[in-house]
Amino acid sequence: MLALTLTSSGREPVKFAKNVPMKITKSASSQDKTSLKKLYVKSYGCQMNAYDAARMADVLAPEGFEETRHIEDADLVVLNTCHIRERASEKVFSELGLVRKVKEARASQGRETMIAVAGCVAQAEGKEIFRRNPSVDLVVGPQSYHRLPQLLAQARSQGRAIDTEFPVEDKFAHLTPASSARTRARGLSAFVTVQEGCDKFCTFCVVPYTRGAEMSRSYEQISAEVTRLVRDGVREITLLGQNVNAWHGLDANGQPAGLADLLFRLSQIEGIDRLRYTTSHPNDMNDALIAAHGHLPKLMPFLHLPVQSGSDRILAAMNRNHTVQDYIDSIAAIRAARPDIALSSDFIVGFPGETEADFQSTLALIEKIGFASTFFFKYSPRPGTPGADLTDQVPESVKADRLARLAALVEAQRHAFNESMTGRTMDVLFEKAGRHSGQIVGKSPYLQPVQVEAGADLIGTVQSVEITGCSTNSLFGRLAGPQPGSSGQNIMEECA
Ligand code: SF4
Repeated sequence: MLALTLTSSGREPVKFAKNVPMKITKSASSQDKTSLKKLYVKSYGCQMNAYDAARMADVLAPEGFEETRHIEDADLVVLNTCHIRERASEKVFSELGLVRKVKEARASQGRETMIAVAGCVAQAEGKEIFRRNPSVDLVVGPQSYHRLPQLLAQARSQGRAIDTEFPVEDKFAHLTPASSARTRARGLSAFVTVQEGCDKFCTFCVVPYTRGAEMSRSYEQISAEVTRLVRDGVREITLLGQNVNAWHGLDANGQPAGLADLLFRLSQIEGIDRLRYTTSHPNDMNDALIAAHGHLPKLMPFLHLPVQSGSDRILAAMNRNHTVQDYIDSIAAIRAARPDIALSSDFIVGFPGETEADFQSTLALIEKIGFASTFFFKYSPRPGTPGADLTDQVPESVKADRLARLAALVEAQRHAFNESMTGRTMDVLFEKAGRHSGQIVGKSPYLQPVQVEAGADLIGTVQSVEITGCSTNSLFGRLAGPQPGSSGQNIMEECA
């Protein structure tokens, strides 16, 4: 049993997390599929939210909903919210003001619109959302979106519905798989959530409160989902988790196993070309997982490993439970296992108590490691987290100045990394036609878009490409070997 209370933005405490079993029943609407209804989902935040948004659309498809990109056409609007960013709740309420206007405009034409708020803000704010915006019909937390059909039915019959519980049933066991057509429409790369929740309790983070304790899906469930995706044309799978490298399950012999074993077994599914995983915690980069980077060619040589700060004092205040040297040692071991690996990370600037000396240590760590890309944020207190109660908050002007300096350094590293690609030959997974006739676009092992002059018949294949140049966000190249029906012509000779 998990029972937590989070004080939200100075408003009433929001209670959540009682394990209450709920029978899954077929909703009334599922029996009436005579007309297709339009669904508009807007998803914020991380890849896990993007995955959840797709699964919500899958759950609602048998109820007669098809997705639209036009909110004014939508019979159901879902805002799949994120609580990580600063003033996340306020931004959601501001967005809801706009959605409410759409609802009123449609009502004046005699058309009904239902509004659902999902995701981490729904979990944290709960009933407060109804109070602040009465046009909302439904509030559903991240652990309950498999119940959307019955919650919609409840909202219709009772005026509104809310579910922010942490249910005892496994939501993944109740989710509707995407149809083959929907999977194909989503492209060659797919996310698969394998782990949810977090037990680490970093002092700046709301995830342990909004997503609950760490939980791993079983190998059988993951394997079945991946097999279905590959059957429907997916070539690249990214395993997702708030703490993905904390994944644990059983190996083929029924013995305890970790993410390395999961990656090995998934790599044997015929048709998979590429595997990735994100997001990881440094403390869960165990020896087996590091070794997997050296042994598994299908595991792409690109790892996102957040460190947040280069100061031991700040890492301790963040409750990260590792030191800067621990991180450096892990990176050295990973690079020894896979010398061509590239790294990305997250940094928080201006955590309470951060001095200029602490910040200089962060810059020194970035210089020492050399990242291919980096995400960086100004610290902002999240209600209900220990960091929000710390008194030595850093002034906004100081945070802004540090952020600018850090941004300049990591942008220079990113550009240098892209430039270092020129002259290299690498495998590219071609995904779609380019903007110009005769051009196709793929993805490098390091997630960079790669543009090549070649025939569309190569879309959906992995080809060897010689990189000839780069711009701010893309690489350019030519096919490294003769290809039937392809010119192999250079489209750019040097980096912009
Ligand atoms: S490990 Fe990640 S998800 Fe967990 S508390 Fe820390 S920052 Fe949040």
